[in-house]
Amino acid sequence: MAFRRSIYKSRAQLEAMVEPGLITAAALAAVRAAVRPGVTTGELDAIADRVIVDRGAESNFKLVRGYRHATCISVNDQVVHGIPGSRVLQPGDLVSIDGGAQFRGWNGDSAISLVVPDPEQPALVEARSALSRVTEGSMWAGVAAMATARHLGDISAAIEDHILGAGPSALGGPYGILREYVGHGIGRKMHEAPSLFNYRTPDRGAEVKPGLVLAIEPMVTAGSDQTYVEDDDWTVTTVDGSDGSHWEHSVARHEDGIWVLTAEDGGAAGLAPFGIVPVPLA
Ligand code: MG
Ligand code: MG
Repeated sequence: MAFRRSIYKSRAQLEAMVEPGLITAAALAAVRAAVRPGVTTGELDAIADRVIVDRGAESNFKLVRGYRHATCISVNDQVVHGIPGSRVLQPGDLVSIDGGAQFRGWNGDSAISLVVPDPEQPALVEARSALSRVTEGSMWAGVAAMATARHLGDISAAIEDHILGAGPSALGGPYGILREYVGHGIGRKMHEAPSLFNYRTPDRGAEVKPGLVLAIEPMVTAGSDQTYVEDDDWTVTTVDGSDGSHWEHSVARHEDGIWVLTAEDGGAAGLAPFGIVPVPLA
């Protein structure tokens, strides 16, 4: 029987997660700065890997069985788990980059989405930017909820409410929330208990209290929430061909508040609209 580790970490363990979080943030910032028409997803992956290695860490994605890359990069109708390679980014593409670093045995995990600039297709850019904004906004709603939540279900509800309250997507219907892929605890392993749903469930879920660290990661589509896995056995793509977006932060709740481990500012900017000031761990 496997040893069951508590989902609640000590103060010292939370502090050990600060550096891998910052390295993860730096890797994604470097990728963001490099996104432009003509760059390949493989080149972006190499940039993330270089930042992680230069800071004395290793990519925790490469520790996942059968995966050889530092990031997952998913374009347009791909929502998550896209494999970096020879694909060339085009103007107007919606690209999601998911990556993480392991440093001294502790993990960070974060994802961003952005649209490759395209002055000739303003409507397309705006539709895809709106999808990304809704997804990012739902992530911050979930992060903010973690500051006061009593149970995981409170966070799930905040994420769902933000997405369903955003009104119709560019396709005219509601945004879709992936149901087969969810957020998770994070610590010594990148993926730990508990699971964090991005929608309401009948269970209120585990208690939210100091020591809990969650990777909060809504995955949202402009259409149906139905997806399939491509022939590469990794890439998760929408069945209806609608666009998908993914945002993620690793967040710690501690005795004095919350701290977004994978944000350079601890989440200060993202939490400001909620009136929440993150409290540093170290
Ligand atoms: Mg991730
Ligand atoms: Mg994750």
